[in-house]
Formats: sequence, C-alpha cells, structure tokens
Amino acid sequence: MSYVHEHEVPARARRKYPVPICPECGCQARRVTGKSLYPEQRHLHHMQFYQCVPCDTRVGFNPRTGRPHGTLAGARLRQARQRAHRAFDPLWQSGQVSRTEAYLWLAQQMDLSINECHIGMFDEDQCDQVVALCVADDFEECT
Ligand SMILES: [Zn+2]
Repeated sequence: MSYVHEHEVPARARRKYPVPICPECGCQARRVTGKSLYPEQRHLHHMQFYQCVPCDTRVGFNPRTGRPHGTLAGARLRQARQRAHRAFDPLWQSGQVSRTEAYLWLAQQMDLSINECHIGMFDEDQCDQVVALCVADDFEECT
C-alpha cells in the first residue's frame, strides 16, 4: 500500500494533467524514466517522461504534478526545439535580461500571449522563427 504516495500528488493535480495523447497516432503515451530513454545520459536518469513507444514521441513531465513540459514531440520536432533553446536561452543566461523579460520579448515578436510562449509547445515553424529572431539583432535593439 502506498498511502504516502497517494497524498504526495493532490487528486486535483492528477486530474488537471492527464497523460498526454500522441499527436501522431492518437494513443495515450506511457510514463517512462529518463534512465530507460537515455541510458547514456546520466543527468537525465532522475527525470520522468511520457512516451508513445511506437511513434517515439516524448516529452518530460513534472513528477510531482504530472504536468508535461510541453507537447509530445517526435525526433524532428525535438531537434527543432533544441535548436530554438540553443538560440534563445543565451539571451537570458547571459544575465543581460531576466528570463521573464526574454520570454516577454519572444512572445511579443511571435504575436503570442506569454502563456502560449513555451518552446516546448512550439511546432517546427515556430522553432525556426525563434532561431531567426534570436540570430537577428532585434533583441539587442529593444533592450
Ligand atoms: Zn504515437
């Protein structure tokens, strides 16, 4: 019996973040550990992921709430999102602006609300847009 576990995750949180549906096949993803997905990347072993095994779409999630860090993505989209992060993250990691300010700028550039502005939710075109925006000098000019 695992009463303790039941209490760690509030029922409301569990209902709020159901296991996501794979966008490619429409099946429900399953929970997998970082260790099983990325046996060679030790820094990911403690993380938890949703995965649709047949399509190999994946997304990480918060183990406490079950909240996914975006939408399930196949290999191409995951690579596009990684490119977007590599272009965007240095803007705030440099300390030039705060993370929030950087996301506000990005949301404005992409005509999204701040709540919609998460690279983990972007499609490939949006990821390309992020890269293009970040390599342009627009960011420097508006800060
Ligand atoms: Zn699938």
